[in-house]
Amino acid sequence: MSKRNDRRMITLRVTALLGLSLAVLVSGSRPAAWPLPAGQLPEAPPSSEPDDRYKADILVVVAHPDDETEITGYLAKAIYDEHKRVAVIYGTRGDAGGNAAGYEQAAALGAEREIEARRALASFGILNVWFLDGPDTPGQDVLRSLETWNHGSALGKAVRLVRLTRPEVILTWLPDYVAGENHGDHQAAGVIATEAFALAGDPTRFPEQVAAPRNHENIGNLTEGLRVWQPKKLYYFSDASHTDFLVGKGPEYSMTDVSPSRHVPYFRLVAEEMSYHLTQADTGQEAKKALATGKLDAFKQPERLVLGKSLVPASVTGDVFEGVSPGPIPFTPVPGYQPEPHGGLWVELGGPWAFYRRFWKAQGVERLADLLPVPEVSVGAGEILHVPLLIRNDTPEQAEVRLTISPPSGWEVRSGTARYGVRPQDTYPAETSVAVPAGAKPGWQQVSYLAEAGGRTIGSITLRVNVAGGGLPQ
Ligand SMILES: [Zn+2]
Repeated sequence: MSKRNDRRMITLRVTALLGLSLAVLVSGSRPAAWPLPAGQLPEAPPSSEPDDRYKADILVVVAHPDDETEITGYLAKAIYDEHKRVAVIYGTRGDAGGNAAGYEQAAALGAEREIEARRALASFGILNVWFLDGPDTPGQDVLRSLETWNHGSALGKAVRLVRLTRPEVILTWLPDYVAGENHGDHQAAGVIATEAFALAGDPTRFPEQVAAPRNHENIGNLTEGLRVWQPKKLYYFSDASHTDFLVGKGPEYSMTDVSPSRHVPYFRLVAEEMSYHLTQADTGQEAKKALATGKLDAFKQPERLVLGKSLVPASVTGDVFEGVSPGPIPFTPVPGYQPEPHGGLWVELGGPWAFYRRFWKAQGVERLADLLPVPEVSVGAGEILHVPLLIRNDTPEQAEVRLTISPPSGWEVRSGTARYGVRPQDTYPAETSVAVPAGAKPGWQQVSYLAEAGGRTIGSITLRVNVAGGGLPQ
């Protein structure tokens, strides 16, 4: 018998078997009375609850060991004084950068930093801590970090942990391009957390995670048996060098208040938690020194959060848990990407700026667009400011677009000022660069980009540029 016939035979047999069992179900032709009286049916064991040991009220999603110190004061209040359960996800092990405690570098440094983070969090009673295994990627472009982290893989892991920890609230880095540290990994953590917030309640996303095993005692199971989960609120915090734009966009927590349960100010608890990160010069070593000398002023800044979205009734500046009550809420889909009909010729900032404008709308966090109405960037004196522009032609005709760049006096345009031929219904990704003089003083400057076609302006862009003293932070 040919293989094809073999297969047909098997198909027929399976069909026949299915037909038989269907017939039994439909016709009720069983030997005993059908249905059985309730008293004769065995009782099924109760359905097991999600494992409560992993339940979190707050899930923190950050990029590097020590990132949690940005909000440690708030976590101290939530844990000690409000008895909230906290879990933490790190995107990386912090395997890049200098080591303030010894010679170990790279993967060895990452191994040390994982333990520093676990010890720091354990000092606050936080034991549920996971790492997404992304490489620490120095830089300030979120798209680079999403690439090196393997975006889809990292997102799948984050969605799994949201489903496992079932958080009421997610706290994460601000997904925006800001002047300041603006670490690409921080932004990637914010992007992935925002996406995981939106996807964990959708059973069609990473469905293998939510399929209950057919026989949970079979050691060969590969589906995960998690429940879908919709978190209720999403908050962000920022590593920008300036904090004025965060005021009034979310709750603010004083670090000079005294913890009612610990009887010390929150800033002291921040310094204690931070002091575990001894490989990190700016956090662990500084905190250790401050605790030894009692000079703790640097830890007294309030901690500010930005409300990304709330799926329960709550005010923008109210407490993180305002409006949150226990139990699941229905899945709330996000709008997703919607093409924006534009038409004509136009120009926009490319790279992460173009991504974020669409991402915020797609994720239902468009309030982030109001934080920095004028886009901004940091650059070090003596460095080159590279800015990608997108020249769009939504017409059926070939177009010629003239781009001119106006830098501050003394700065030199290296590339970008040119005539661009843009094909119909196409985009020209223009690479612009401006050299910042070595002697440029720290402070805010402005660079403008003007696009013209056929003797009229088709678009102009102004970028606020913060010249950072001592070079660009990494
Ligand atoms: Zn970091």
